[in-house]
Amino acid sequence: MSRVAVVRCPSYDIAAVRAAVERGIGLLGGVERFARSGETILLKPNLLIGRAPDRAVTTHPSVFRAVAELFLTAGASLTYGDSPAFGRAEGVAGRAGIAEAARELGVPLADFVTPVAASYPEGVLIKQFTIAQGVLDADGIVSLCKMKTHGLTRITGAIKNQYGCIPGLLKAEFHARLPNARLFTQMLVDLNGLLRPRLYVMDGVVAMEGNGPQGGQLRNMNVLLLSDDPVALDAAFCRLVDLDPHLVLPIVAGEEAGLGTAAGIEYVGDPIEGFVARDFVVNRRALPTTGTALRPGRLSLFFRRFVIPKPAIRPVRCTRCGTCVTICPVTPKAVDFEDAARSAPPVHRYDRCIRCYCCQEICPEGAIEIAVPLLGRLIRRAR
Ligand code: SF4
Ligand code: SF4
Repeated sequence: MSRVAVVRCPSYDIAAVRAAVERGIGLLGGVERFARSGETILLKPNLLIGRAPDRAVTTHPSVFRAVAELFLTAGASLTYGDSPAFGRAEGVAGRAGIAEAARELGVPLADFVTPVAASYPEGVLIKQFTIAQGVLDADGIVSLCKMKTHGLTRITGAIKNQYGCIPGLLKAEFHARLPNARLFTQMLVDLNGLLRPRLYVMDGVVAMEGNGPQGGQLRNMNVLLLSDDPVALDAAFCRLVDLDPHLVLPIVAGEEAGLGTAAGIEYVGDPIEGFVARDFVVNRRALPTTGTALRPGRLSLFFRRFVIPKPAIRPVRCTRCGTCVTICPVTPKAVDFEDAARSAPPVHRYDRCIRCYCCQEICPEGAIEIAVPLLGRLIRRAR
């Protein structure tokens, strides 16, 4: 059995968050279970991109502050960091309000630029990673994840949060090397097996539904979820939003790899039923999945073209900033402008597109959505 603490937290008022974090960690055995005096603990918030805290794209600074304060009182020495999908960590942390909280508490930004090789012989798929120096410098990690939807993995929660421990452009390389959701997910699970954060705190006070993890809508869930098991924590997120956890590939692969359990969960704290939002907008389609395990070939191309969901630009929202073009990991680009003057929004080349949805994830205007082709919709209805 894995324990998940469910704690009501009605706002980001720091007193309320402090009380909720203290209670939640207490329900898991107290902060001393997760850090000894003198140890260096890395706090890993979700710093996807530089957005103000009220946009719910990043972990809220009140959650960061409350967790940091608790670990400092336990005598831990703290650092923090993330490798954003776009922009430098300093700037993103500044806009997200995390840098200010860290400065006031004397918590320095860890080195998330220098790449260091880290071997993981137990990895199912990946046995050699490149990790940010600041991650490996720490004795332990506390993962401060955000409750949001995600194009590739349906939800971005505890397991996905460690992807930011891979520095900079190397993350894009993984998307290109592992061009379907199952392979990408297996890599994520191996990465979690290597890093093994000691504690996960999921910020679900204000979550993001719909076109997440950046362009979706805010949803008040008024809850913090805490666990030392990332599979159980993501499964708890699924239960909150009435999503079958078997549809979430990181949960399935995580269970198979022994990272945790989605089945044997002991809930403690507030009754989880009180937070369930059955109308939470998340991808509940059984098929087609976002990405398949198909090997390259005609059948794969057919599925990709006619069944697998694809990124689609809503021209009225597009500011022609070019961020999607920059982030696209394939060569030649699968999304690009048709002329240098950017006289029209970029255009997708679906024959090149590996459906990593990085463009949808990063578009600052939420102008890219995931569209299911007609055949995919028909298959779904027939099931
Ligand atoms: S990132 Fe979004 S807004 Fe920018 S060019 Fe691409 S679709 Fe348009
Ligand atoms: S166009 Fe978008 S989904 Fe397709 S490969 Fe590029 S970033 Fe990934």
